[in-house]
Amino acid sequence: MEECIFCKIINGDFGTEFIYEDELFVAFNDINAQAPIHFLIVPKKHTTSLIKTEDGLILNKMLETVNKVCKIKNIDDFRVVINNGTISGQEVMHLHVHVLSGRELNWPPG
Ligand code: AMP
Ligand code: ZN
Repeated sequence: MEECIFCKIINGDFGTEFIYEDELFVAFNDINAQAPIHFLIVPKKHTTSLIKTEDGLILNKMLETVNKVCKIKNIDDFRVVINNGTISGQEVMHLHVHVLSGRELNWPPG
């Protein structure tokens, strides 16, 4: 997936700083942060979206990784968002989870 921006980030093409990395995931700060803390957890293996992901283990591990990274960073009040499809707001067609924190988050989101 050489045209995929997140695959390029994972590959180190943009020199993006990873705030967390393991064998399956990277996490990095969102370039267009919507909260004082806003990072993305992204599987290293390209898959387009939540609904297209057949590998249940990676979905399981993605939430485990949210748990792990938030614990490491002492974040215990946060929102997790996964956009699926363009109408929902998904801009990057590589599965990822947003973690937002550091301000009061209104509900429902706009
Ligand atoms: P989504 O709209 O759910 O697909 O989220 C994609 C997110 O990726 C957006 O919040 C963008 O701000 C973010 N993003 C796009 N390009 C970059 C980049 N080069 N580095 C960090 N975040 C990015
Ligand atoms: Zn990709």
